[in-house]
Amino acid sequence: MIKSKTKEERQWLSDVAELGCICCRNMGLGASRAEIHHVRTGQGMAQRASHTEVLPLCPPHHRACYETGFHASPKSWQEIHGSEIELLEQTKQEVMELRACRV
Ligand SMILES: [Zn+2]
Ligand SMILES: [Zn+2]
Repeated sequence: MIKSKTKEERQWLSDVAELGCICCRNMGLGASRAEIHHVRTGQGMAQRASHTEVLPLCPPHHRACYETGFHASPKSWQEIHGSEIELLEQTKQEVMELRACRV
């Protein structure tokens, strides 16, 4: 049963990436090619599998070494774009909508 879960997680990750960068879309810049950011907020209290706790971010919004990159300054980044938790909720909803369109 571990295998089917892995497959489900992979599908989730590919669906999230397909959405495009959540920051670019929220800023009205259109969907940029996204990579996966693993959310760390709240981990430790809940020991849940973290492969679904992910956000789609383009490289500049993810790991740019200047201030637009999440990992460069997580605090000011979240002041601009919203908290990881809020964005995570949005992402989950969007994946559901994406999947609904495929049926
Ligand atoms: Zn972006
Ligand atoms: Zn990241």
